[in-house]
Order: sequence, then C-alpha cells, then structure tokens
Amino acid sequence: MASLPVLVLNSGSSSIKFSLYEACNGERTRLFDGAVDGIGTDLGKFWIKDAAGNKLVDQNPALPTRAVAFKLVADALHSGDFPAPAAIGHRMVSGGPTIQENQLITPELIDEMERYTAFAPLHTPIAVYIMREALRLFPGVPNFVCLDTYFHRTMPEEAWRMPIPEEYASIGVRRYGYHGLSYESIVYQLGTETPARLIVAHLGNGASITAIRDGKCVDTSMGLTPTGGIISGTRTGDIDPGVLLFVLRQIAAETPGTAEAADKLETFASKKAGLLGVSGLTNDMRGLRDAIAQGDERARMAVTLFTRTISKWIGSFMAVLGGLDMLVFTGGIGENDIASRAEICAGLGPLGIVLDPARNNVRGEAVISSEDSPVTVRVIPPAEDLMIVNHVVRLLAQ
Ligand code: AMP
Repeated sequence: MASLPVLVLNSGSSSIKFSLYEACNGERTRLFDGAVDGIGTDLGKFWIKDAAGNKLVDQNPALPTRAVAFKLVADALHSGDFPAPAAIGHRMVSGGPTIQENQLITPELIDEMERYTAFAPLHTPIAVYIMREALRLFPGVPNFVCLDTYFHRTMPEEAWRMPIPEEYASIGVRRYGYHGLSYESIVYQLGTETPARLIVAHLGNGASITAIRDGKCVDTSMGLTPTGGIISGTRTGDIDPGVLLFVLRQIAAETPGTAEAADKLETFASKKAGLLGVSGLTNDMRGLRDAIAQGDERARMAVTLFTRTISKWIGSFMAVLGGLDMLVFTGGIGENDIASRAEICAGLGPLGIVLDPARNNVRGEAVISSEDSPVTVRVIPPAEDLMIVNHVVRLLAQ
C-alpha cells in the first residue's frame, strides 16, 4: 500500500483537536498534531506541533464561533505546509440507537446522527457540524465516523439492558458505554499481553471503567449518556433517580417550558455536578489536589467520592469477571494523579490489588503493582487517534 495521510478530528464542546498520521502497510506514524481551544472566547489557542514536539503554529486568535475555529484548521491543512489528507476519521461519542458501526460519512448519515443528539447532547452538535464542514472543505476526501460506543457492542444483554418499560427500551434507552476508542487502544497496546480478565479505568475529566474478558467488553460504567457511571469532573455519575425527580420538581415550579426544564436538569446533572459541584471550586484534579494540600475539606470530599466510587466499581467488575488478572489506569488523572491511584487501590489489598508506592510514583506508562500482587496494575496512556487511523485504513480497504 502507498503511504496514506489520514487526518483525525476530535471535537469537544470548546475545542477541536486534530492529528495527521501517515499509514503505510502496518506502520502508523504521527506527523503532526494540534488543537484550537477556547471556542467562544476572544483569546483562544491554536497550535500545531510536529512529531518531535516542535511548535509549527502557536497563536492566540479570537475564536468567536466554531466556524472560525474549524476554518483555521482547514486553512492550515490546505496551506501546502502539511500533506493533504487522503482520508479523514472523526471521533463521535454517540451515533444514537441505529448507528453502531464505524462507517463512511454521507450527508444522510450526518442528518441521522443529528436526530439522536439527545443521546450525547454535549458532544453531538459540534461533531456533526465539523463533519458537514469537513465534507465541504475537503471535497472528494472520504470521511469516516469512529464511535466511542463501538467497543462496547459486545456487551451481553444483561449488561446493556436497563430496568425500564419496553416502550422506552424500544426507542434505544439502554446502556451504550463511552470512551470506547480509549479502551480499544489499551487492548491494542497490550496485544498478546491482554489477560483473560481485565479492568480498565479511564479517568479523565470524564471518567468511566470497563470490564473486559478476552479483549472484549462485557460491562461498562457509562450508560445511555456519558453522564452515567462514575462521578467525574462536572457530571453526577450514577445517582438515585429520585434526586433527579426532586430537582426536576424544583426546576419545574419556576420554569415555564418542558424543554427549558430539561435543559436546566441537564445543566444540574452534567455541568454543575461531579468534582466541581461537590468541591464548589473546580473540576480539575490538579486544582483539587492543591486545595486539599491547603486543607480544603470540600475538595477533599469531592476527591474521596471520586476514588471511593472507582474502588466500588472495580470490586463489582471483579464479581462480573470472576476475579481479575490486570487493572489498567488511563486518562489524564489515571496517568498523572499518583495520589488518586493510591487512594483507589488502598482498600483493594484483600481483592489482590497491591500497589508498590515507589513504582506508583510515576507519570505515564509503567507497571505500578508490587512484585507479589496477584493482580498486575499498569498505567497506559490511551491512543485514541491511532485507533481511528486503524479503523479508517480498514474501512478504506473494504
Ligand atoms: P483528560 O480529560 O484525560 O484530559 O484528563 C483531564 C484531567 O486530568 C483533569 O482533571 C486534570 O486535572 C487531570 N490531570 C492532568 N495532568 C495531571 C497531573 N499532572 N496531576 C494530576 N491530575 C492531572
């Protein structure tokens, strides 16, 4: 196969990240990566780095709209300074109930995904916008959607079915699971070392945990939307549904329209809760650790809720897997926050998870369990973009 430049686009609510890979036979080489960050502000960031980390672009443009932001990316890629992409892969959080497979993007497919915005309301609007723009600004270049739900499609029904009436189940209310490209990338990186019983904790600003048997997902913590599961930066995670009803009644008493009331409930559960809501301070783990060091008790409680929830999920997934061979931490907190890993594993010794404090004192890839720990504990950074490139190459060949 000739070498193929593949562009990966990964949009968030206020940023667009991108990377350009060269795919040649089995080889994948990252040539550049970059981001526009701070969409909706006067002082955004726009940067592009080469594989050695040299900044080729480093600007602070005004980014009033996502249109301005994506045009900066497209203009840079059209400038001739970078290889023109032969294919584009888009990370998509959810394609709704009907789109479960990674595939070629057509205008009709984008319309269908947009109809299912309610399945990932914070992520879908910008992702479908970027897909439409990419089709327009890169005519003739095939675009593919790569779903964060795809890895979880192997879950058995008892894992994905929710305890709800059929009228809702039949319109797609079920557990989908997210962060799938990250989980897939951990299994890919472990390769032949992937054990029979594996738990991966993806702990970033959004946090989830997945039980994997023989390389395939059997259960995961996020549910219908990424708001479910583990408490994360600004999201509740699993919560007594009575709490949502209680809050909804309070909102409804002072809000005229149903749609407005739903938006306010969404803000409560997905934007103002989690580490931010409990600490009253920040959703950023570094800020929380600084506050804890200053004796801030609300920050301490926020982080304790976080680590305790994850310990509980690890225990419950050990029940699902019938034991455990390996636990992997990934994501910004999983890779970097030494204290979170120590706190999560502190009570898990009786379950065979024993960290070595000296080995755990690292950021980035490492084995952090003690020599005699029955369960191996590792830190592995995710490689989501690489998975998207692999899917694009596979789909192009079909
Ligand atoms: P992600 O969403 O994967 O980018 O992860 C973001 C989270 O990782 C934020 O809560 C950050 O505070 C946290 N994080 C990143 N670097 C560090 C670090 N060096 N120490 C502690 N937490 C970190």
